[in-house]
Amino acid sequence: MKQVVALALSAVVAGGAFAQTFPSKPITIVVPFAAGGPTDTVARQLAEAMRGPLGGATIVVENAAGAGGTIGATKVARATPDGHTLLVWHIGMASTAGLYRKLQFKALEDFEYLGMINDVPMTLLGSPKIPANTYRDFENYVRSNGGKVNLAHAGLGSASHLCGLMWQSAMKLDKSLTAIAYRGTGPAMNDLIGGQVDLMCDQTTNTTSQIEAGRVKGYAVTTAKRLEDHKLLKDYPTLQEMGLKGFNLTIWHGLYAPKGTPADVTKKINEALRAALKDPKFMSGQASLGAMVVTDNRLSPEGHKAFVADQITKLKTVIDAAGQYAD
Ligand code: ASP
Repeated sequence: MKQVVALALSAVVAGGAFAQTFPSKPITIVVPFAAGGPTDTVARQLAEAMRGPLGGATIVVENAAGAGGTIGATKVARATPDGHTLLVWHIGMASTAGLYRKLQFKALEDFEYLGMINDVPMTLLGSPKIPANTYRDFENYVRSNGGKVNLAHAGLGSASHLCGLMWQSAMKLDKSLTAIAYRGTGPAMNDLIGGQVDLMCDQTTNTTSQIEAGRVKGYAVTTAKRLEDHKLLKDYPTLQEMGLKGFNLTIWHGLYAPKGTPADVTKKINEALRAALKDPKFMSGQASLGAMVVTDNRLSPEGHKAFVADQITKLKTVIDAAGQYAD
């Protein structure tokens, strides 16, 4: 009995000791998409805001892109669970569970949930070469050009892919769009600006400044309501207003660690995340890009995980209805 108590005590002490020494080396935040895209932007702004709360730690962002984000997620699921390798991922954590029948990780089993970061609307965009300036003209253009219109996305299971699938299915197009996959919507945006691709649906964190500068054409937002608080996006119609009944898509980002990361370390990271989300610079940076910083119970690991579980169920219904899978 004495031995059991002693063992239990030493486990508690050892557990507490992780947090005392954490972080003991640079922390890597893996972004499962290319640099310059919306997930990358969120992760870089977050890394900067979490540095102070983590005692001035060095936080490096690593882009491990490919396969709609599943390559980077697999990398983190398999990393040493000591809190020094983290993942910032979006709705793909839930959508890939429905889109891929074979995945190297299990969304609800292979990660510690550290809290959600933000909710981000999407915008439907066209290249500057598209001869349409309103959503209605754009829709007519796409319908009359059938299979010749290209849709850029960030890989099967990405947010832009999901949005493209939902839009095509809501439009009931006779001929589907030709999809072109990129390693992230950062590089896809460059091709949209250059007119090599025709359309894309992407988070406002990547699109706001490009629309504002007139480099791409913005047609509509994907949320149920207009973005009334945003100086530029408030003038864009919702897809529901344009007749696509029930269309409602908001992207969210969360922070994850490999399963088995010590509880006192995940607690410390969660506290740093909460502090970062209240950082005025982070908050204004996010707001200017149309993102809403999370303030509800999805900031807790339990709330975050429950939300993702619910999203997996809901998105599976949408994906099954579209009848398209990644593998
Ligand atoms: N916005 C991208 C997506 O469609 C990913 C990215 O590059 O951040 O999922």
